[in-house]
Amino acid sequence: MDHFLYREGRLHAEDVALAEIAASVGTPFYVYSTATLQRHYRLFEEALTGMDHLICFALKASSNLAVIRTLANLGAGADVVSLGEYLKAKAAGVPGDRIVFSGVGKTKDEMRAALEGGIRQFNVESEPELLALNEVALSLGKRAPITVRVNPDVDAKTHEKIATGKKENKFGIPISRARAVYAEAAALKGIEVVGIDVHIGSQLTDLAPFAEAYGKVAELTEVLRADGHNIHRLDLGGGLGIPYERSNTAPPLPIEYGAVIRDKLGHLGCEIEIEPGRLIAGNAGIMVSRVIYVKSGEERDFLILDAAMNDLVRPSMYGAHHDILPLDEPQPGTLPQPYDVVGPVCETGDTFARQRPLPPMVAGDLVAFRSAGAYGAVMASEYNTRPLIPEVLVKGDQFAVIRERPTYDEMIKRDSIPSWL
Ligand SMILES: *Cc1c(COP(=O)(O)O)cnc(C)c1O
Repeated sequence: MDHFLYREGRLHAEDVALAEIAASVGTPFYVYSTATLQRHYRLFEEALTGMDHLICFALKASSNLAVIRTLANLGAGADVVSLGEYLKAKAAGVPGDRIVFSGVGKTKDEMRAALEGGIRQFNVESEPELLALNEVALSLGKRAPITVRVNPDVDAKTHEKIATGKKENKFGIPISRARAVYAEAAALKGIEVVGIDVHIGSQLTDLAPFAEAYGKVAELTEVLRADGHNIHRLDLGGGLGIPYERSNTAPPLPIEYGAVIRDKLGHLGCEIEIEPGRLIAGNAGIMVSRVIYVKSGEERDFLILDAAMNDLVRPSMYGAHHDILPLDEPQPGTLPQPYDVVGPVCETGDTFARQRPLPPMVAGDLVAFRSAGAYGAVMASEYNTRPLIPEVLVKGDQFAVIRERPTYDEMIKRDSIPSWL
């Protein structure tokens, strides 16, 4: 359930009519629902009740300060993959001891900044990274708390670009090498081992790969404890999928995911950490766009929108489906007709949907792309020198712009022309 519903024929975000926001900020734009963000966070809280746990929102899914603050106010931590995300988490009010640092390519500068600013743990992904972190920590007279990300070699059965838990992926160390790497870590004076990390992919719609991976983590916990390591924290990554198509079967619920965690790992007495991004933010956001032209081709009709692949890249990058709704509710009995829904960018890849049934549309109509709250705004670019589109947050009957659309002047001033020109 989310909070984007028709009321009196007009699509709303909570109590605000989206057409009102469009009139105020212009199109296209992203809009997020506070109530939906809060609801999704609480579903994970409920799912992990009774286990010592921390929910670290994966900032890579959505990193606006207002979104992070909304979740931080409920007690959320943050999972970050760059110094930029680390600094955003801090700026939004997440304390350092609730921030975990993930990612395969942390630089020494990033490690230093996080150690100085406060960090819960680094999820280390390789031996060279372990040695670099040790050096940085020693140079600061500190010990860096770490987990090692193990790659459990399970097939997450998701899109190949977002599967991370097979042995051919670049992520983590093979679980078969874990004992050796933990022994190495334990010998380093700048490193403090606190637990194990695993993340097998994103948009998983089946619990079996999680169960398989977490079973392997449970075994490894026992083995490493027997080797003398103090394994007291298990970071289980993110990855729970969301329904992108209302008509499809629903992915597992957080409560069912929580049951798998309890079943596989509950007996170990570890603190459980999870890093959900998509499930918290995905269906808490939509993108609103206006029809510029309806173009009738020989074989098909095109809806040409003012939003494009640079604003929401998931359809062209992953072939992803987003439900598209008109802001004005179709009258009962309206016959849908198929449209190719496209943006103005000069690439055939700039196509949001092919032959999508929609009520008859005319230029000027507004549409909403559902499930755009995760991996939407954060993946946007200024390709074709199109300004990054604004983000808006709704809470009840209030809304606020939480990122302004840059002016063309601001965009042009970011470049500079060398003196020889
Ligand atoms: C991408 C990622 C996440 C978030 O994944 P979702 O599918 O958005 O829940 C969490 N942890 C790590 C290490 C990731 O790479």
